[in-house]
Amino acid sequence: MTASDAFAVGDLARDEGLAFRCFCGLRRFRRDELVALVGADARLHHVGLRPELWCGTCREPPLNGQIVVIEDRRDE
Ligand SMILES: [Zn+2]
Repeated sequence: MTASDAFAVGDLARDEGLAFRCFCGLRRFRRDELVALVGADARLHHVGLRPELWCGTCREPPLNGQIVVIEDRRDE
């Protein structure tokens, strides 16, 4: 039983995001990107199952999602 089971996208801090590893590498989503894609009430525990977040290149579902603190930059 972990806290992340009940943790939703909307509970992330503004400078937090999720990182997903797929066949291509590591992709990162900022909080507001996640809210736009899956909604603020999407549970983080299940968010990797949402096809909106799957990689457009390799079409692989994310192997795992990790909560990471990312800087709030417009682009890299
Ligand atoms: Zn990929």
